Amino acid sequence: MRQFAPPAVAIMALALTLAAAASPAKAQRPPATAAVVKAGDLFDAEQGRMVGAREILIRGDRIVEVAASVSAPPDATVIDLSQCRVMPGLIDAHTHLLLTQEAGEGLSEVAARDHAVDGDGYRLLTAAQYAREYLEAGITSVRDLGNSGRFLDLVLARAINEGRVAGPRIHGAGPGLAPAGGQMEPLPHDPHGLVDGEYRIIEGVDDARAAVREAVAAGARVIKIYPEATPQRTRLSPEEMTAIVAEARRHDMPVAAHVTSDRGAREAIEAGVTSLEHGYDLSDETLALMAERGVWWVPTHTSFGMARELSSAWPQPPSDQMIRDHLSEEHRRLRKARAAGVRIAAGQDLYAPTAVGRGRASLRVLDAYVEAGLTPAEALQTATLNAGRLLAGEGQLGVIAPGALADLIALPADPTQSLDALAGITLVMKGGRVEVADGSGACASR
Ligand SMILES: [Zn+2]
Repeated sequence: MRQFAPPAVAIMALALTLAAAASPAKAQRPPATAAVVKAGDLFDAEQGRMVGAREILIRGDRIVEVAASVSAPPDATVIDLSQCRVMPGLIDAHTHLLLTQEAGEGLSEVAARDHAVDGDGYRLLTAAQYAREYLEAGITSVRDLGNSGRFLDLVLARAINEGRVAGPRIHGAGPGLAPAGGQMEPLPHDPHGLVDGEYRIIEGVDDARAAVREAVAAGARVIKIYPEATPQRTRLSPEEMTAIVAEARRHDMPVAAHVTSDRGAREAIEAGVTSLEHGYDLSDETLALMAERGVWWVPTHTSFGMARELSSAWPQPPSDQMIRDHLSEEHRRLRKARAAGVRIAAGQDLYAPTAVGRGRASLRVLDAYVEAGLTPAEALQTATLNAGRLLAGEGQLGVIAPGALADLIALPADPTQSLDALAGITLVMKGGRVEVADGSGACASR
């Protein structure tokens, strides 16, 4: 017997089909124009080395072919970077674009300023400036992990996606899922709701699942959790974290966990999170467990130069030797993690004002990794291949390979010899569009 769909269902299906055909996303998609980038020398992020001259064929926002010579259509735009070194656009896996915390300021003071004095408009305009600074520094994608008001990170992401302001591709988390009090100093009264303005406070297992769904519905690309909320002494329960991870998995969402203690790290790993952020106290046993379970580590380390600049504003700045002693433990842990096979993605977690701007300053996390013992090429892999896998899975971001998003940067010198080359970026392409160019696009000092 033939089956007929009830008319109401058929009409609904037709309406959905028409709506999909007329969706703004489709209407605004750029035409799939072709471009050929001629690279004088290419950093292959998978191999972790320069592989010589290559041509890169791009169609729309994706890379189509990488070869010594590609067969380009006659109308393809040629971008001649034959005097330059070319590498994938950089990725910072831990940013806070909506947060500016001056030295000595508590997070509750920052929130009071953001909510009662500056307001969301000023906060977003400031974030737009930071976003441009990231892009100008060659950072084409970021994960923005909370302290962004009620989803202001997703507002900024939308404005960037629509071409209204310049910035990196943002994988935003919205407000972090936190235990009572969030990360703020204890606020027994909080009449202005500062905590709820910055965090999604979790109250039980059902609420934990609901919080994930709220973030998904708002457009988040990652879930941020605070297993432990210093300087508060509150903690998410293991049951709440397990529920968050389960709900996030149902929506194909990664979970990033802010951990400072080894205990917090262990509980987050047991709950099944995707990445540990910071990890200032990871024991050797925890590093081994991370390697075994494939848990990512985003070590938000500070380079010596950055530590000295940021601490110079303190009432009693530490001596150089005190800074070195402090950093040496971070260095030991990073070497241990690498030896154990822990997957490491770069993230600077920068929220303090710096002399050189957010983007350039954020690249100093790579200096910190080199100071710890990674080679420059290995450090570059943490901010390309590795961070790309963390954000988008295999082959989508952080590599110059067929099928990947066409994000690349041009430099005058070989970055695998010295990361100083990152200070001279002459061109930034994101999703097949040249977003930043120094005018000549040339790399004269080669
Ligand atoms: Zn952070």
